Amino acid sequence: MAWQCSGETNTELITNLYNNNLITEPRIRDAMLNVDRAHYAPTSPYTDSPQPIGHAATISAPHMHASAASALLPFLYPGARVLDIGSGSGYLTAVFAELVCADGKGKVVGLEHIEALRELGEGNIRKGERGKAYLEGGGVEFVRGDGRRGWKGKGGGDGEGWDGIHVGAAAVELHEELIEQLKAPGRIFIPVEDSRGDQYIWIVDKDKEGKVTKKRSMGVRYVPLTDAPV
Ligand code: SAH
Repeated sequence: MAWQCSGETNTELITNLYNNNLITEPRIRDAMLNVDRAHYAPTSPYTDSPQPIGHAATISAPHMHASAASALLPFLYPGARVLDIGSGSGYLTAVFAELVCADGKGKVVGLEHIEALRELGEGNIRKGERGKAYLEGGGVEFVRGDGRRGWKGKGGGDGEGWDGIHVGAAAVELHEELIEQLKAPGRIFIPVEDSRGDQYIWIVDKDKEGKVTKKRSMGVRYVPLTDAPV
């Protein structure tokens, strides 16, 4: 879709994605209009394609970010708590912040296992006035840790749980600790690679009684969720 949906500016890129139904929700369009992709993608920021960001990581194509946000949208209400595992460039963390933090109440944590990428995400969101305010107001935080264990806060206490968990790298299983950290109700968006090397998005829902259901969705290609490089 890169040929069809690219633009000269962020507004053109997002408007073209919306007009071509790659962004289907006005709330997501408006959030993405508020996050300048040039602050996150070092090259060709206004094309609908992934770009390398160093450390074997990539910023995903904007239509993939829109699709992930759409899948989680019922849980991205103002005031919600969202965990973005493998935050990389910080782009999607910033889009989540636009959706949940705008009223000053929500919380979005970007979790990275590579310190340089944790710093990259934090530095990128700081380039915009809105992102800087989310960081300084405590709505957004970038932390370092192994995403397969989720995040319970710096003290590692009980944690308050998450309404939505986005995993931006391919796991080899549906990590139980992530499901435990989900609120009831809550939802996880996670790419999982099967034994044949095929990757699919799984949507894991916990209902308000705590019952968990798992559904396989579209085929995808993500970088793997791994041990941190030494
Ligand atoms: N959503 C990001 C995707 C970055 S690529 C973006 O669009 O910019 C995937 C990211 O997952 C990489 O930054 C990689 O460092 C991170 N990652 C891989 N394994 C991880 C793990 N076990 N814990 C936390 N982050 C991990």
